[in-house]
Formats: sequence, C-alpha cells, structure tokens
Amino acid sequence: MSRILITGITGQDGSYLAEQLLAEGHEVHGTALRSDEAAPGAVLHTLDLSSPGIGALIHELQPDEVYNLAAISSVFGSWQQPALTAAINGVAVAEMLAALRELTDAGREVRFVQASSAEIFGVPADVPQTEHTAIRPTSPYGAAKAYAHSLVNVYRTAGVWAATCILYNHESPRRPEQFVTRKITASAARISRGLQDRLELGNLSARRDWGWAPDYVDALRRAVRADSPDDYVIATGVAHSVEDFVQAAFGRVGIDDWRSVVSVSEEFMRSGDAPQQLGDASHARAALGWAPTVDFDGIVAAMVDADLAALEKLRP
Ligand code: GDP
Repeated sequence: MSRILITGITGQDGSYLAEQLLAEGHEVHGTALRSDEAAPGAVLHTLDLSSPGIGALIHELQPDEVYNLAAISSVFGSWQQPALTAAINGVAVAEMLAALRELTDAGREVRFVQASSAEIFGVPADVPQTEHTAIRPTSPYGAAKAYAHSLVNVYRTAGVWAATCILYNHESPRRPEQFVTRKITASAARISRGLQDRLELGNLSARRDWGWAPDYVDALRRAVRADSPDDYVIATGVAHSVEDFVQAAFGRVGIDDWRSVVSVSEEFMRSGDAPQQLGDASHARAALGWAPTVDFDGIVAAMVDADLAALEKLRP
C-alpha cells in the first residue's frame, strides 16, 4: 500500500483517480478548496493553492506519489482570472517541486506527475502534436501550464522523479457545463424534454481530440509507475469539430434538425482558440502500454445518456 496525494481530488479527474487508487488499496489524500466537498474513502485536506501551503502538506504526509490535478481548468475562465490562473496552475507547482527536491535530497523519493495540457502548444506548430512540438501558448491557461511543464523538466534534470502527461480534452458525465461537451449534452437532454428552448455556442468549427476522462487518469497512474519519469502526450489521435459533437449529441436525443435550436453567439468566442488540436500518443502507447478505450461516439452516448437519466430522476 502506498500513501498518495492528489491535488484537486474533487474535480472530474481527481474523483476518477481517487476511485482507481482506492480500488488498488492505497491510502489516498487529496486537496480541495472547500471542506464540504466530497472525496469518499479519501482524507480531505482543505487548501487553496493560490497561497503557500502545499509544500508543508507534502513534507507532513511524505507521500509515495503526488498527482497534481488542481487547476483553474477552463481556458475561457483563465482570461477572466489570469493572475489566479498563474498562481494555481503555475506557481503552486514550483512550491510542490521545491518540496519534492528537499525530500529527494534527504533520501526520500516521491514520484510526481503533472497534469500538463495540449494548451501549451497554443495554435500548434505540428499536426499531430508530439512531446517535441513547440511550446507557444495562446491563452493565460496555456501560459501557466507551459511554465509548470517547463519547471517539471527543470526539476527532473535536477534529480526529482517528476513526469508530465500532456492531456488533450477529456470528458465524462462529471464535466461541469462550463466545458463545451457537457454544455451540449446537458442542453440536448433538456431541450429534448421541453425544459430548455435554445442553445448558444461559440466556435463550432474548432476541432478537438476528445477522449474519455477515466482513460486519461489511467495514463497518469501508468506514468507514475514507469521505470523513469518522462513526458507523454495522452490523446486519441482522432479530432472532431464542436459541430460534430452537437450533431451527435442532438441525434442521440432524437433531434436531427439541431440547427433549429442551436445558434452562435460572440459571447462564447475566444481569443487564440486553436483551430485544431490533435495528439499523437505513440510514446505513451509504446512506453506505458496505454491506449484509449472509449471513442468519440461512445463518449457522446455516455454523456447524453447520463444527462437524460438525471432528468428522469427529477420527474415527479
Ligand atoms: P477547453 O478549451 O479545454 O477549456 O475546453 P472547452 O470545452 O471549454 O472548449 C473546447 C472548444 O469548444 C474550444 O475550441 C472552444 O472555443 C469551443 N467552444 C465553442 N462553443 C463553446 C461554448 O459555448 N463554451 C465552451 N466552453 N467552449 C466552446
């Protein structure tokens, strides 16, 4: 049994990861912003990563593994809160790595994996992107994640066991509605039941490499248990447009004429939005034996069906 620390344990990825690690029989600790958040089976530590404290927690727990999932997770939101995004997605990682270096120097190896992001590539220089694609972010979120990504590499060179998974968008019924996939599936479900009239979206032509969140969490575990720390692109290698997602989700609820209820609004357009993200996960496949298990249609179906089931439960 290992002692494991997950930052951001109550988020989509943190909750799936905690379930996987608890099922393996480990002692799981996690940080969350508020003490009333649920992390069943894990020890919850209330911590705001925009202020110092994570280094002290790492020293106190001396965990075997640290998964850094805490973040301002929305690219759109990072434009509203760039300084907070830099603090949580960037500076907090410096505090973690400094603590890990102190423990490593004292002879206590702690393995660390950073949830890095396709957003570090901005408008990508290569198609598909690999671990060697140029890092040149185009959003405050991407810039903060790029700093953290670079810093992990700096500390790895300095002897700390620190890996990164460059995660492409990964979805599930646990995604909040601030993300386009869940916004679409929740709206399609409500519109099909007469509980909502219309759906307003931004850039319908953006293409994303959408994967299944539990698969991406599995990749993080594999990265931590590899023989040596490295960087890994985690992606499906297949891209679809936002419009494809809309069509598939509305089709699933029986609305083929989705154009009659969906419109485009400037409000949801972004600066620096990459026209396409497409990842090449060959390195993760070869080195970690990792492969995605759910494809685009499977993701859409699972999310729409969960939203329809949630509405059924609300019926009187
Ligand atoms: P993120 O980019 O990783 O934060 O994931 P999102 O799900 O928020 O966005 C994925 C893509 O959907 C981006 O290219 C957005 O520009 C596009 N998009 C189009 N309409 C919307 C919308 O209404 N909301 C959001 N969040 N994204 C949208």
